Amino acid sequence: GSRNNADSVVVIGLGRFGSGVARALAELGHDVLAIDTDAEAVQAHAGVLGHVVQADATDLESLKQLGVNEFQHAVVSIGQNLEASVLTILNLSQMGNKDIWAKANSQQHGRIAERVGAHHVVYPEADMGRRVAHLVTGKMIDFIEFEDGFAIAKTRAPSETHGKPLSGSAVRTRHGVTVVGIKRRHEDFIYAKEDTVVKPGDLLIVAGPTEAVERFAARV
Ligand code: ADP
Repeated sequence: GSRNNADSVVVIGLGRFGSGVARALAELGHDVLAIDTDAEAVQAHAGVLGHVVQADATDLESLKQLGVNEFQHAVVSIGQNLEASVLTILNLSQMGNKDIWAKANSQQHGRIAERVGAHHVVYPEADMGRRVAHLVTGKMIDFIEFEDGFAIAKTRAPSETHGKPLSGSAVRTRHGVTVVGIKRRHEDFIYAKEDTVVKPGDLLIVAGPTEAVERFAARV
């Protein structure tokens, strides 16, 4: 049974990605059932996760016996074995699972996953690669892009914003991004207001269309 605010999630495949997902969900207090064919992977997680089972998710009967259809969400985190990933998604789909997430190693994998019933497809390697590209040049300190071309970044305050309140540098009208918050060294994060004066060395949290955020960060 699930606790008041806890979601129930079945995570299939305890490779690097699935393991990270399962651990984080468990830490957040959700009900997690983890499944992997590999005895070693199961062993390695037995102490950390509440319920870990050795089973083959391509086998519909095994999934039924484990009551996998009763979970609110399913995460299929089998990347390398495309056939196993596809068959697992098909099984979940056939059991009527309403929220199937799949990890894909390639665009082709992702397209197939969607066709066989995945409601959400994630591309961790490709996404992280894009993210690191933004970080490696040193312009952005952190960068998150959302599905619809919208991003949030942590970046150094460009010199044109120094010594002025945010309303004065008109970042929104001039650059199309919104300053959401400011982090000053040795101080707590503050929410940005119109009258907040930016100092050299401040870090800005800015939100907006990805391209506008990229252009703004490049001004530093
Ligand atoms: P990552 O790149 O995140 O490490 P992998 O594709 O390498 O992902 O790992 C996939 C995991 O899924 C492995 O631990 C593997 O044993 C497991 N796995 C593969 N096929 C099945 C299956 N049919 N049922 C359950 N688990 C599976």
